[in-house]
Amino acid sequence: MKSHAQLVIIGAGIVGCSAAYHLARLGRRDVLVIDQGPLFETGGSTSHAPGLVFQTNASQTLCHMAQYAARLYGELSLDGLPCFHPVGSLEVATTPERLADLHRRAGWGRAWGLEPEVISAAEARSRLPLLDEPQLLGALAVPGDGIAKAVRACEAMARAAQGLGVAFEGRVRVTGFETAGGRVSAVLTDRGRVACEQVLLCAGIWGPRVARLAGVSVPLTPCQHQYVRTAALPALAGDSREVAHPILRHQERALYARQIGDCYGVGSYQHEPLLVRPEALRDTFSPSAPSAAGWQAMPSVMPFTPEHFAGPWEDIAALMPALRGAEITAAMNGMFSFTPDGNPVVGESPELPGFWLAEAVWVTHGGGVGKAAAELLAAGECEWDMRDCDVARFEPHAHSRRYVHARGWSQYDEVYDIIHPLQQMERPRPLRTSPFYIRQQALGAVFFEGRGWERPQWYEANAEGTTLNAERQLAEALAVAERAASQPPQPLSLGAASRDKALSVRRGWSALNWSPVAAAEHLVARERVALFDMTSLPRLEVSGPGALALLQRLTTSELDRPAGSVVYTCMCGPAGGVRSDITVTRLAEELFQVAVNGPSDLAWMRAHLPPGSRVQIRDITLGTCCVGVWGPRARDLAQSLAEDDLSNEALPYFRARRTFFGEVPCLVQRVSYVGELGYEVYADAAYGLRLWDLLWDAGRPLGIIAAGRAAFECMRLEKGYRLWGTDMHSEHTPYEAGLGFTVRLDKGEFIGREALAHARERGPRRRLCCLALDDPATIVMGREPVWAAGRVVGYVTSATYGVSVQKSFAYAWLPSELAAPGERVEIEYFGQRYVASVAREPLFDPRGERLRG
Ligand code: FAD
Repeated sequence: MKSHAQLVIIGAGIVGCSAAYHLARLGRRDVLVIDQGPLFETGGSTSHAPGLVFQTNASQTLCHMAQYAARLYGELSLDGLPCFHPVGSLEVATTPERLADLHRRAGWGRAWGLEPEVISAAEARSRLPLLDEPQLLGALAVPGDGIAKAVRACEAMARAAQGLGVAFEGRVRVTGFETAGGRVSAVLTDRGRVACEQVLLCAGIWGPRVARLAGVSVPLTPCQHQYVRTAALPALAGDSREVAHPILRHQERALYARQIGDCYGVGSYQHEPLLVRPEALRDTFSPSAPSAAGWQAMPSVMPFTPEHFAGPWEDIAALMPALRGAEITAAMNGMFSFTPDGNPVVGESPELPGFWLAEAVWVTHGGGVGKAAAELLAAGECEWDMRDCDVARFEPHAHSRRYVHARGWSQYDEVYDIIHPLQQMERPRPLRTSPFYIRQQALGAVFFEGRGWERPQWYEANAEGTTLNAERQLAEALAVAERAASQPPQPLSLGAASRDKALSVRRGWSALNWSPVAAAEHLVARERVALFDMTSLPRLEVSGPGALALLQRLTTSELDRPAGSVVYTCMCGPAGGVRSDITVTRLAEELFQVAVNGPSDLAWMRAHLPPGSRVQIRDITLGTCCVGVWGPRARDLAQSLAEDDLSNEALPYFRARRTFFGEVPCLVQRVSYVGELGYEVYADAAYGLRLWDLLWDAGRPLGIIAAGRAAFECMRLEKGYRLWGTDMHSEHTPYEAGLGFTVRLDKGEFIGREALAHARERGPRRRLCCLALDDPATIVMGREPVWAAGRVVGYVTSATYGVSVQKSFAYAWLPSELAAPGERVEIEYFGQRYVASVAREPLFDPRGERLRG
């Protein structure tokens, strides 16, 4: 074995082989792939994976990776044998709810470039004759889905990589790592030391254990998962084709099935999640566990637990009567990985430079993840936006064993469930609470979770009596506010009829996890003043010599402005895509507060610190709190507490200053994400409760309320404010996203400048547009396909019913030629199409007068 390689890949399963293949094609030759098992049936999860590839996914990135993988496997062959059978798929529905959800899933598929169709029960049976038609209400059929021959694909990719100079070694077990100068410098194995500059860990379920040898955390848990193979079925006698039937999902019963010649394979997620501690995993094949398929000997397989399979077997036999009575010839509890959010973990570990991860990946995505990892290693960027997969996306608590266990358990349990976009995780909660939490509880806050934070979505105190009709609810909400005020609130300017409409318009799916109280809060915030808890907004302090230079290099805007300036800007990647949007407040010459989108931004910034830099980047989110004080009466309220002048002249829009609110030292920023006059008020967390109480008491005469994130979300959309990760991401340039105003190409060098100069010259090929639906009572949710002239031309990012503008509207990506106001398109929602037109944006206060008042 080599004693030096520029890059060592650990693991020769589907991910390691795919990464090696793509690296070789990118010209990286000095790569060594090692595996503790024999090549290429190593005993890892890939060795026994039945290989079903269902490409449809709520995540655009994972769907694109699956599409790429299906194409890649389809192009590969080994000694003339195919690595992919594109037999198509059927996801069947046996309840009306599932049938409706299949339409929703078809929408995702179309939005992300697939060509799915929802077909009748009879059509489903004609494609898969073993199905019991009377049980079916319909099925989702996706033509390009199929079966990957995973081990074959590994070997085919490995041979291609070997042909380009990559080395593979089986039966080499990693036992440790060495570091030098804060970077990984060698891999230690039971066959010697391999000096290296980089490591890519593709060790699947063993990932956490191997990474810990380097002091790196991989938040995933191995889970057992049942799969069986039948004896030959009489119904398939004489069928000599290896695979002809479409692959099948029966999500109502958490089952899937595939044909294997004249036999069938059946997998089940029905049993309670059976999680395994990484320390309990075996490393080697066991000599004493024979099984027909050879599975039991593999170290990624646990003994089959028949008691968990009785129910699933009954259920699959009910759906496919030909399986009834069939003998099960091989059975296993195989193991694979689940992360807290169910997505892969890809990228360079923020804990150890040079140590890369590509973990928790299904065969379905292995081809794509390998490509992404290779591109990231080679160029620092890849074709797809990686926000759903980024190694740095996890909050600190997500690395704890307890959290990984609890969330991994739920991810397994819910794998085939119908999940509403606003459905809340149940545990572990509460994890992080703001200093205002007890006051919010007293106001009947309904908390939604975000990155571990408890965040009020709306407050029942603003409703009182949710069983009342919409009009009375608003009256009640106002009465509550009135009772709290020592003088009557200002009357709302919207008429009673429109208020009624605004409050009652949501129905069905879009009314779930929502309350009309949110609409009432929205109206009150636009008319008086409301407190929005913004504590969960991640923020960093960037300080020390070189802080300005670092931020200038990372962002698209000119940040060299006087202290007290606030700048909304983009952080782009080298290809000019928006990696994040951030707000930078200059507090002193080399001292900045930066509002970011999450831990990935911190990792990106730290990764760009020049060698020997004295810049400090500190996450100050937990030590501070923030309350948004927004609404036409916000200045009256804030000024009544502030020691300094907050007039428009003294503190204009997009300026910040330090002052005291009562006794509380505050940083006040004149910005608003809801489009109203007002401030973000920051203070040390320990002062938070006092700050809230001061604002609340001083706000009573003004009719103050606390408002939740549901109102916040609707208000920001009316103003057209983009939400990074939802409305745009690293596959979009600021010009396309409507954020071209943040780009100052003439400010000097910054990351992405060259690409952005080209992008500006070329002009945007697509744009983020505001679409107003003709029918104000149809409210979509996001991720729906948009049609024009009989084809899918784009997809929805965010949507709402605008309570102030009284329109159902959505933001969507469209080709530039369809982006002009007045263009007519259709949005597909649960299989129906609804007409919408491109609208001039923003819909609310387009001149920004309310903000600047
Ligand atoms: P692995 O294939 O496990 O590869 C990791 C490698 O790392 C192993 O070969 C191991 O030997 C090596 N390694 C570990 N530790 C060390 C060390 N210390 N030193 C050297 N080498 C080491 N996915 C689908 O997409 N479709 C399916 O239909 C499907 N069905 C499944 C059915 C079952 C029963 C199970 C259990 C999983 C299924 N999966 C399916 C999931 C899929 O099998 C895995 O997610 C995927 O194979 C993981 O690939 P990998 O390369 O990350 O890991």
